[in-house]
Amino acid sequence: MGLSGGKIIGIVAVLAIVGIVLFAKSNTNLPSTNLEPPIENVDSALTLIVENSENIITNTANSFNKNYITISYDPIPHYANDNHVRNSISDAITQWTDENPDMTIQLVESNGDVQIEWKKVIFAGHTGLMEGSIMDVELGSLDCNNNWNQYSIFSISDTISHELGHYIGLEHSAEPTHLMYGDDEFTQIPFDDLGYNIPDNHLDFQSWIEYDIIENEYDDLNRDYIKLDREYSQYPETISSESQYQKAMQLYNQLNQLNTEMNILVDEMNCIADVTP
Ligand SMILES: [Zn+2]
Repeated sequence: MGLSGGKIIGIVAVLAIVGIVLFAKSNTNLPSTNLEPPIENVDSALTLIVENSENIITNTANSFNKNYITISYDPIPHYANDNHVRNSISDAITQWTDENPDMTIQLVESNGDVQIEWKKVIFAGHTGLMEGSIMDVELGSLDCNNNWNQYSIFSISDTISHELGHYIGLEHSAEPTHLMYGDDEFTQIPFDDLGYNIPDNHLDFQSWIEYDIIENEYDDLNRDYIKLDREYSQYPETISSESQYQKAMQLYNQLNQLNTEMNILVDEMNCIADVTP
């Protein structure tokens, strides 16, 4: 049976429509990559850490022999890990006495020259406080999900070391990696070490490890992102080949996927920023 004239016209019409659809599709403009990697957000996370690293100083000149110091401390609270906190105290003492052989720091049962009081959370941005003979030491902080996280041994040790520094009369250094770093009216330029050898703080080496891992992951993704984005930008805005269009869109989708993953990492970094003393 031959095709009737009507059917032929019908098929031609269908083909024409398909042709128009294909034509229209293959000429679709590529979406532009407005997918800026969230680098600015990462910067703000870093800023948050720096701002939170401030301590405050309330101690002034002392009139005792600063080369012999006794320390007593309150019972370690149930919410904290006992050994963890004890190790922090020992570490802080070792830090100071290793650097200053003339210095003796001794733990006593009660009424030490320095009396440590443990705090679950002091308040945002402060991990320690020295007021007369009372040293407040913050043991952890709330993350972005409001869960309390105990600080690392080295973080607590750094707080104790820093506050001990105030006890012996030191003020703040403007150098962010300095044990006595602080950004307030007590910041000394130049910093007066009063003849002491100031121990290094651990903060740079320990507390930032988790953050560094995520940051490295972010940097890896960012490298991929930049590479793919360069490839994607090689395509003209309007593409007439269907296969080229598919390839470009595949890149576009990969870029979107990377962008999503990078934003998740930024959120994680910002959450850690909240718990880093
Ligand atoms: Zn301070």
